[in-house]
Amino acid sequence: MSISLKVENDVGYIEFDQQDSKVNLLASDMLRRLDEILDGIQTRKDLNTIVIVSKKKGVFIAGADIKEIEQIAVAGDGKAKAQEGQNVLNKLEDLKIPTLAVIDGVALGGGCELALACGYRLATFNPKVKIGCPEVNLGFNPGFGGTYRLPRMVGLTEGMKMILSGKPIDGTKAKKIGLVDVLVPEAGLADSINRFIATIHKGKIPADKYKRRRKKGLAALFADSILVRYLTFRASRKSVLKLTKGFYPAPLRIIDLIAKTYHLGREKGLELEAKTFGELAVTGISKNLVQVYYLSEHYKKLTVKDAENIRPAVIEKCGVCGAGTMGGGIAQLLSARGIWVRLKDINYGAVALGINAAAKIYKENVKKRKMKPAEAQKGMARISGTLDYSGFGNADLVIEAVVEKMEIKKAVFRELGSVVKDNAIIATNTSALSVTEMAEEAKDPSKVVGFHFFNPVNRMPLVEVVATSMTSKETIVTALDFARRLGKTPILVKDTCGFVVNRVLLGYINEGGRILEECGQMAAIDKVMTDFGMPMGPFMLSDEVGLDVGIKVLYTLEESLGERFKPVESFRRVSEKKILGKKTKKGFYVYKGKDKEPNEEIGPLLGKDRFARFDREESLKRMVYLMINEAARCLEDGVVDDPGAIDVGMIFGTGFPPFRGGLLRYADSVGIDNIVGDLERFTNKLNMKQFMPCAYLLSLRDQKQGFYSA
Ligand code: NAD
Repeated sequence: MSISLKVENDVGYIEFDQQDSKVNLLASDMLRRLDEILDGIQTRKDLNTIVIVSKKKGVFIAGADIKEIEQIAVAGDGKAKAQEGQNVLNKLEDLKIPTLAVIDGVALGGGCELALACGYRLATFNPKVKIGCPEVNLGFNPGFGGTYRLPRMVGLTEGMKMILSGKPIDGTKAKKIGLVDVLVPEAGLADSINRFIATIHKGKIPADKYKRRRKKGLAALFADSILVRYLTFRASRKSVLKLTKGFYPAPLRIIDLIAKTYHLGREKGLELEAKTFGELAVTGISKNLVQVYYLSEHYKKLTVKDAENIRPAVIEKCGVCGAGTMGGGIAQLLSARGIWVRLKDINYGAVALGINAAAKIYKENVKKRKMKPAEAQKGMARISGTLDYSGFGNADLVIEAVVEKMEIKKAVFRELGSVVKDNAIIATNTSALSVTEMAEEAKDPSKVVGFHFFNPVNRMPLVEVVATSMTSKETIVTALDFARRLGKTPILVKDTCGFVVNRVLLGYINEGGRILEECGQMAAIDKVMTDFGMPMGPFMLSDEVGLDVGIKVLYTLEESLGERFKPVESFRRVSEKKILGKKTKKGFYVYKGKDKEPNEEIGPLLGKDRFARFDREESLKRMVYLMINEAARCLEDGVVDDPGAIDVGMIFGTGFPPFRGGLLRYADSVGIDNIVGDLERFTNKLNMKQFMPCAYLLSLRDQKQGFYSA
């Protein structure tokens, strides 16, 4: 039985233990069973307390069943679904005896809402305790009473923060804000529960859960005044708009919902919550976000075919070669995850720069309260610098992040051969060069893998794991596992020039350059892409990366994949003038503190034909469809075997807007025949071969299929 009632003396324990599942979910059948149990409890006279517990390790209740929500096609059905859950949780809340949720693990979404419906909440110090309402990430609001109960229990500010950010909190924070009443050690939990029940029955805790943390006197009047509420809602709207640029309707609808329901009674408040849930759950944006969630879960657990029995190697010590932009960031990331790092460069100044870069990231984390100062200190203590390979003999894995030059990388691989231990893995962070060529220089090519981080390493969630034909399954399994340990989502790609993300992205930046040469409207071209939802347009992005770096990758791509990657003339001219981007404070834009303005030096470097009319729609299509065409080529060439890998790569590696579901899901929504039609039109009109739809795209069109329905 997935939920059962166990009675001990006068306490009823509702035990959640969903069959054939690692977690408990509040799916419809679970809700029905809970409803039956609550009906039974209502008629009993022998119980004086109800305790809700989970029999799963590390999990209380992980949420509602997303698959059921995904099926909702009509707003009315969504409303009914939310009300189904609300009614059961109301029944729980209305029991005449005290109810206690025991949270010893994950309590998310519906799980958190169930706990909120109880009279009391007890959590343990278990690090697995995570309490939160992540629904906003899927494009809808909590629908089982969360928007009604949470702000009342922890206050408007904290409640809105949790619901709008979707971020879970740990037990300590939950106790601090009043979301749980007591925090106890994991050991001796049964005794702690009994003691807490005794405290409840002695009347030592106010019975009204919403009044437990209320401030008293003037402070209470002030905290709950109409003015403070008005200011809170206004500030939330402003910060949501800044963060989402208005692309995501859910957070704004949630603010409106809470503003409307905060002074209403339960019945009306929950009615509005259910209605909003139904309306949001059927939007295309929510459906896309749900698909992105599935993709990200899939890639987080990515496995290698026929390698189910291979265990990943243990990685405790690492060497990092190259202490530049990437090396410093990589050293910080590894050390923060408890790994000892030897950071090597060719002179003391370079090593110091890398160590300082790591220290700066730690400092920022402490400032933003993401980390305690002692943790940062411990992390820094795990990094040591070197000019030779001393210490590399102990490394379980070495990451090569020296300059993007094949000859230098090959030399490093040869040198590593005589210093690393036999079972050490060597991973290269190259952006586009052949991993196979480097592996050929290694002592054991089966231990060589590409491990392509994105810049800035501490923030970008993607790693492209690049396998050559010589890379062993053990090495791939270890690399995938290691990426996950670093908190990254890996995609597995074949060793081809530029892998997936740079190959798709660089062609787009180059196309931006071509449009710029035609019309000279740099800021307008960038705006087309930010209006589409990209975090940056092609020129802002180029300034971030550095035009010298970008152009080098374009040349590598051109050499290997052909003329369509030839850098536009103006990029060459701009980089020759050493106008490189943010690092020189001057690129396509001039940077002054936090402000930027278009760089007037760029115009004259574009040539004299730069006065054509700027066509927004056509420019957008040229840039985005070119990416789609290149992504289709990646599938055609077998760089990845699944459109999901490209969508995950583009979302997590470049910030492609998740609300569009990913590049190729977006392509499907536009229609492959429309895209092919436009690409053919551009090929003829502009006389440019790069727009010629590739065979993969043509075959999808001919078979009337999309990337995901192929
Ligand atoms: P960088 O120029 O900032 O740093 C490279 C460092 O390597 C320099 O400090 C240099 O002194 C050092 N170096 C050179 N030869 C060395 C050797 N033999 N032994 C040890 N150190 C040596 O370069 P970066 O931007 O950090 O890029 C490093 C690698 O990461 C490149 O392959 C690049 O393509 C890749 N990458 C860069 C980015 C990015 O945005 N910068 C993103 C992803 C991947």
